[in-house]
This record gives sequence, C-alpha cells and structure tokens, in this order.
Amino acid sequence: MRVTEEIKNRLDIVDVVSEHVALRKSGRNYAGFCPFHPNTRTPSFYVFPETQTWHCFGACAEGGDVFSFLMKKEGWDFREALEHLAKRAGVSLEETKPMEQAKQAKVTRQERLLAAAADYFHQLFLHAPQAEYARRYVLERGLQEETIAAFGLGYALDSWDACRTHFNAQGYDDDELLAAGLLTVNEERGTKYDRFRNRLMIPIRDVNGRVVGFGARTLDKDGVPKYLNSPQTDLFNKSHLLFGLDMAKRHIREARQAVIVEGYMDVIQAWQAGFRNVVAQMGTALTHEQLQLLKRYTKQFVLALDADAAGFKATMRSLEVARESLDREVNIRFDARGLLRQEGRLQADIRVVTLPVGYDPDKLIREDVTAWPKLLAKAQPVVAYVIDVVTCNLDLNDGKAKTAAARRVIPLIRDVLDPVERDHYWQMLARALHVDERALRQIRVEDGGRKRPSSSEVPVRSVAVGVGKRRNGDGETAVINGGIIATHKREANYLSQCLRHPQLLTSVNQRLTQNSQPPVREADFTTAEDKALFRHLSQISHASPFATIEDLCDSLDNVLQERVQTLLTFPPTPDSELERLADELAKSVLDWRLEKTRRLLNEVKQLFDEAKEMNDIEAIETYKEQLRRLPLIVFSINRARDAMSAVSRRKADDSANNLL
Ligand SMILES: [Zn+2]
Repeated sequence: MRVTEEIKNRLDIVDVVSEHVALRKSGRNYAGFCPFHPNTRTPSFYVFPETQTWHCFGACAEGGDVFSFLMKKEGWDFREALEHLAKRAGVSLEETKPMEQAKQAKVTRQERLLAAAADYFHQLFLHAPQAEYARRYVLERGLQEETIAAFGLGYALDSWDACRTHFNAQGYDDDELLAAGLLTVNEERGTKYDRFRNRLMIPIRDVNGRVVGFGARTLDKDGVPKYLNSPQTDLFNKSHLLFGLDMAKRHIREARQAVIVEGYMDVIQAWQAGFRNVVAQMGTALTHEQLQLLKRYTKQFVLALDADAAGFKATMRSLEVARESLDREVNIRFDARGLLRQEGRLQADIRVVTLPVGYDPDKLIREDVTAWPKLLAKAQPVVAYVIDVVTCNLDLNDGKAKTAAARRVIPLIRDVLDPVERDHYWQMLARALHVDERALRQIRVEDGGRKRPSSSEVPVRSVAVGVGKRRNGDGETAVINGGIIATHKREANYLSQCLRHPQLLTSVNQRLTQNSQPPVREADFTTAEDKALFRHLSQISHASPFATIEDLCDSLDNVLQERVQTLLTFPPTPDSELERLADELAKSVLDWRLEKTRRLLNEVKQLFDEAKEMNDIEAIETYKEQLRRLPLIVFSINRARDAMSAVSRRKADDSANNLL
C-alpha cells in the first residue's frame, strides 16, 4: 500500500482541517470560513468526508486532499507535509529495499488477478445461464440489484477448469493462480483444479476496498463445507480482516459504534436495510489485529452473536482479546496497604447482544427490519452480560462454583472506567452470587488481560509500494466513487505516459490550447503527491529536454520515487504511436476535467438548496453565480472534446485511405 494512502486511511481530513478552521456540519459535509482568502460572511470552504477532500467555492476556487491543505496552510512542500502527517498517523517512512520491490511487484500482480477474478465471477453471476440457480438463491434472500453490485456478488461455474482456462488465457500461469488461492492442488496426484466450483462468490475486500480473497457459499443442497474461504495467501489473512469494513468504516465513525456480527450475509442484509456500521469477524472470535483496525474508527463495539453455547464461548474469547488489545488509561496509585499499584481501565465500551434462538441477523432483518435497531438498543454492557450468563445456571449451594464464576467476572469489573459504574457491578455480582460484596473484592485474580504491554500510541508500521486504487464502495456514493476511480486512473495514466515520453507534456498542451482549453496544471491533479510529481516533471523537462526518468528520480524524495515506480507498471506505448497517444491523452484530460466539474456542480447544487432552506441571501448569490459558471465550463469542455474526436476520426480515415 502506498504510504500516502495508508496515512489518509488512518487520519480523517475533518480532524486535521478542524484544527485550523472552525467547521460546522452542513448536510453530509462540513463548512467553514476559507483560511486562504478573505472570507468572513458566508462560509465558502467545504470539507467532504466521503472523498476526504476540501474545496473553496469562493475566490480560491481550489481544492485538494489533506496533504495539499497542510502544504497551503503551513507553506510546506510535499515532503514536509508528508513527514508531519506520517508522524501523526504513526506510519513509518522507511525506504523500501529492492528485494521488497520485487516482492511488491508480485503482490501487485496478485491484486490485479484477484480484482479480475472478482469481476469474472460477477459477470458470470449476472449473465451466465448456468448461474440461474445462484441468481434465484440470492433473490430468495431478498437481495436487490444495488446490493449485489455493491458487494460484487459472483458465481463460480460448476467446472474443474473454467476459471483456470480463463485466466491462463489472460497470461496468468498456474503458480500465480495457486498463490492467489483460485486453484487447488491434489497432493497425491499432483493435479491442479479450480478451487471454487458451483458456489456463490463473495469477494472479501480489505479496509481500502481491494479484493484480497473470497468467501464462497455452496449452492449444492448438501454441499460441504457450507462456506469455503480463500486459503491464507500473501494478501488474504482472515485474522487480519473484517468483512465489510471498507464500506462500513465511514458509517462506524459517524455512528461512533461498530456492530460485529458472524456472517457475510448478516453484513450484506444489514447494509441493504440501511444499517451500515456492521462488519463480520472472519473466524470464531475477534483477533487482536481486527480490533487494532476497528479502534481507528470507534471505541464503542457491539458484539451481536448467536445464542448458542458456541456463541457464548466465542464472545468470551473475543472479550479476552479485546481486553488484551484495546488501550487502557493507566493510573498509578497507592493501595490500602501503602503499596504502589498500577491500574489500567479499558478505554472502550463493549456491549453484547444475543440473537433470539434460531435467528441470525440476516434472518432477523429479512423478517422485520425494525427488529434490528430494537435488538441493538437492548445490548448489555459486557459486565452485566457476563454476570448474567455465568450465574444463570449456577448451583448457589456450590461454593467452589461460585468462586469460579466470580473469577470470570472480576477482571471485567476491574476494567470499568467509571467508579460509580464499577461499584454498581460489584453489587450486582454480590447479589447474583448471594455473597458479601466485601468478600468478593478480596478475591485475587490472575489477570491474563494485562500481560500485553499497552500504549495509547498507534503502532508504527512500515508500508511498501503498491498500486494506488483507493476505493470507498458504497451504494449511495458508488456512482460518484466510480467516477473518482476513473479520474484517478486517467490522471495516473497521463503521468505514467509523460514520465516515459516527456515530449507529451508539450504535445498534449498544444492540442488543448488549440481547442481553447487551458494547458495541464498542477490543479488538475487530485492528490498532493501527483501534483508534486507533475511539478517536478514539468520543471525538469523544461530545464533539460533530454532528461531521463533516472534524472527525475534523483531529484525526488523516496515516496515520490515509489509513486513513479507504481506509475511505470502501466503498460508502455511504442514511440511510433506517440501522435495517437497525444490525441488520446488530451481527450483523457478533458474527460477527467469534465468529471470533476460535474461533481463540483452536484455539490454546489446541494449547497445552493441548503442555502435556500436557511434563507442565506449572500450564500444563495455565491452559489447562483457558480451554477451559472460551471455549466458553461462543462459546455466548453464538451465542445472541445467533440472537436478532438472529429479530428481523430479524420486522421483514422486518412491513414486507412493511405493503406488502400
Ligand atoms: Zn478560499
């Protein structure tokens, strides 16, 4: 993963900006007075949490990401902003070694293969006649088109080699298919065959929306196992993943609560019903790594687990892990005997809710949508839940059993942050066990929960190079995000081609200016690193027309160098095609400008409606002006785009005629 991507993942632009600008919530976004131009009456500065970007609709008419905000605000260059934010996010900026680069190239290829596989299964699901039963199964589950698309549900053909043949033809060899978990090998005979056959395919994505593996449900009536997962691979480690987190993270942050369920279908069904702060643990109990991921977004967790004994055991195991993993507020104090004691209280609110017998969230929500929020409202604080469970079948005449029960609960009570609440639980436990509270307080318990040294710092992890492919898949924003991904791809492709052939910088600009469009500028790029890269590239090719990529790299810091390496994985174009390529790129620049302007227009429309609602005369005027100006820009880009297409067609006709 790219360092900048990792940093953006860990930080929220709203937090960073609000340290410099007083922001107020305005619809889905945040508004404030622009710090970059005199702006005191109507806030013209907006922060968009969904895209993690900002924009000034006033005099600046400019925007960017969290990096470009700080660069502008503090007058920093890219490196300074990077160092500041990396430190803040707890991301290390160590240089990657050549060995790691080779490994990274392999991982990048595996990522592409898995993304292509998800698409292959999805297309089969939508169109293959053989997928009829799969489609009916999903329909019976009540899943709608939008949901199927958002989760990219797929179908694997009932065949031993369909997937293998398909991807062999795409240039992936068997070893790569094995490494990605798409093939499996018969150890005795040494034969290889498709791992997933006649199954409903559920792509499993990491927190950034990258496909890393699959959960596959059998469609045979007695098929075993019911769910078959991808094997552990370089990318797929189920104890490090939470299903649905890529789509849920924003909602978890907004709801200040994460609901943890057991199954894929539970997450999908909840999402469809509008409950979007739900993720699934990928095994029987939560892991340390999963909690590390989750606690970036919230400190309140609700475990919604099955009612059976296995469910209880898993819950207890998850609680143990939570107590080991989550942050503690550590107090040093003297105890009654004058000895120094270190006490840590858990910095998290964990609640538990048990599903009615015979139900999972999927079934519950399908039968009655309103049952879900009602159920969550009944979530018990974890201590109360455990007291209930360990005492409900207890023989109150059995002293040893009582002590054993007390020992399970006491560490949890000692973890409670609030002293009044803590006292409440001591009393509750005493009542449940029919013993004296003072006796309980004297029980000494070896506490496994405090073995792991804990700190409130985010763990420092170094991050290697990867292909930048930020995705935030989510129904209501899927269309917008689709556009953003396409735009990022176009920007990246432009940079990648200009890196290989710097003369394109000039030839693309010529085509733009010939059609009355401004040349490519820094402001055309979305991310701060691409802006910085573009500036370096323009400067160096202007200063020395024969500069090579190596010359350029020498002048860049390592993060931008890594970006260059990633960009160079885009397929090259032969020199003989440069004229055609310049035509293509000029059109591509217009396409991404068009997409951005349209997106801006949408935002302004919403802001305009809000201003009207609040009867904010000055704001109404500002946005009216924008609503007049932006469509003119769209019109002018479209006209230039049409003119360019006409020229390309003429050129194509000419060359065809020349061949005759
Ligand atoms: Zn401004």
